[in-house]
Amino acid sequence: MSSAAQSPARTYRVRTYGCQMNVHDSERLSGLLEAAGYTAAAEGDDADIVVLNTCAVRENADNRLYGNLGHLRPVKDARPGMQIAVGGCLAQKDRGEIVRRAPWVDVVFGTHNVGSLPALLDRARHNAEAQVEIVESLEVFPSTLPAKRDSAYSGWVSISVGCNNTCTFCIVPALRGKEKDRRPGEILAEVQALVDQGVLEVTLLGQNVNSYGSDFGDRGAFADLLRATGRIEGLERVRFTSPHPAMFTDDVIAAMAETPAVCHQLHMPLQSGSDDVLKRMRRAYRQERYLGIIDRVRAAMPDAAITTDIIVGFPGETEEDFQQTLEVVRRARFASAFTFQYSKRPGTPAAEMDGQLPKEVVQERYIRLTALQDEISWDENRELVGRRVELLVAAGEGSKDAARGRLSGRARDGRLVHFTAAGGVRPGDVVETVVTQAAPHHLVADGPLLSHRRTRAGDASEAGTRPTTPGVSLGMPQVGVPAPLPVLSSGC
Ligand code: SF4
Repeated sequence: MSSAAQSPARTYRVRTYGCQMNVHDSERLSGLLEAAGYTAAAEGDDADIVVLNTCAVRENADNRLYGNLGHLRPVKDARPGMQIAVGGCLAQKDRGEIVRRAPWVDVVFGTHNVGSLPALLDRARHNAEAQVEIVESLEVFPSTLPAKRDSAYSGWVSISVGCNNTCTFCIVPALRGKEKDRRPGEILAEVQALVDQGVLEVTLLGQNVNSYGSDFGDRGAFADLLRATGRIEGLERVRFTSPHPAMFTDDVIAAMAETPAVCHQLHMPLQSGSDDVLKRMRRAYRQERYLGIIDRVRAAMPDAAITTDIIVGFPGETEEDFQQTLEVVRRARFASAFTFQYSKRPGTPAAEMDGQLPKEVVQERYIRLTALQDEISWDENRELVGRRVELLVAAGEGSKDAARGRLSGRARDGRLVHFTAAGGVRPGDVVETVVTQAAPHHLVADGPLLSHRRTRAGDASEAGTRPTTPGVSLGMPQVGVPAPLPVLSSGC
């Protein structure tokens, strides 16, 4: 237990920005601090330790970080002993620059040494001096660190960190390094530990899950992992993110279709529908391949919901290129899409490219794209009116509908459903109901429930307990050659 925690427990708060990988890492930061004797600050209270887990993907990421640090300065001035720590991708990129611009920051740590936080906080306090520690490659898999989970019923399980691709708009490889794969046995052990604590759903997480296994030379490793995860007794839902169209193989489609626990939901980033733009993005696939995957997924799983990411206004994108993107969107019939206006990211090849488009051109295309996608999402949702759906009841996903006395849950295809229920339904429980209305970004089910299954996850939600994974003291886990995959049958 660190020295600081010998006095009355100091409180902490972790603020997370960016992607699911940061959400995953923040659960580790909370787990590490609790293992070091800190306790989570109550909602609304100032905390003794504030940790900002940053993202570097968007142009305004810097402004947001320094803006937040500016707001924290007077809080710290009024609270002797308070400490501020900055981690994540922007810390990995900006390093000492952060304490130069915000000298009231106590600790800066990177994406490869998440586990160092408690020791760095101690050292900063002991030496009364800011500690900046950034390492160039992964020390330990964050997944092996203690974790305090956010949800009682759903868990993020990282299968790899880093990325071997070099998409020209993306800063991730520079900040999270080359891909490193976890051993399948460790991943399955983590999933089992979550299921043992009542978790019903896991999301396998990686920058590019389709290349999982490239580290140990097994091209079929991801499909095998999906099947093995789906065989874990008590696990009802398996999801994964993010796949990559260039490496997406048919064995994954078969594993999805043939493993009952794997949800028929696929989030596959398109980024652009134009072959010329995809080439300049260095995305290693073209329109035809992308649509071919969609067709094969739909042939194997007609009920699959497919979502995507699209960037509008990439340097040099012509109106003709943009029309290609609209054409793919019309043909792919995505359930929904995360659409982004291209944002110049210093340090990426695309930021140096000719043909940077004026903001108003990008904005105008963005409006056309989102209007088309909203129309398609709504049409696709209308098809589901009258459909019976099984929902995993969610916490905090429907505040607006809570005012109408509705709860919210996620269907197996990932869609958000606001539903009416008599009392006694808790986040983590499972209900069945019938869709009565469709909206562009959600469904509504106002009829009586067809069934309500109280679950251990629901009990945990009600009790306010969260699954914890104690961290695996394997010492330095050997990156690369995996332990053989245990054949999962009861008792393995
Ligand atoms: S696949 Fe491309 S966009 Fe995704 S993390 Fe890797 S480099 Fe970035």
